[in-house]
Amino acid sequence: MEIAIIAHDRMKADLVQFLNKNKALLEKSDIHIIATGTTGSKAEKAGFTVQKMLSGPMGGDAQIAARVAEGKTDMVLFFKDPSSSHAHEVDINMLIRVCDVHNIPLATNEATAQLLINAIS
Ligand code: PGA
Repeated sequence: MEIAIIAHDRMKADLVQFLNKNKALLEKSDIHIIATGTTGSKAEKAGFTVQKMLSGPMGGDAQIAARVAEGKTDMVLFFKDPSSSHAHEVDINMLIRVCDVHNIPLATNEATAQLLINAIS
């Protein structure tokens, strides 16, 4: 199972905490984690093995959207910052749309992310 993780800057610490909380499950051999660049670096520093895409503003969200469209990614955990807008908002909205088009589970906050992770544990 391929899980994509993305966190906006203000949410990155929350995402790392979430990853650590779910470490046992996420380190299982059949789980492959992909991430936007900076989020991926934070996850690596926390000890996770992650395939990093470009940074979000450089097209990382778009790369993840492409993987969803190609049927490679099974779940997207996106710790979105609801309080600020981003230069790459169009890419973010595209990712959300592509998940809907392909019926791929997408969490945009921690509570939903936890429910999704619980569902596969
Ligand atoms: P980042 O991208 O992990 O490279 O910061 C996240 C985003 O803003 O989409």
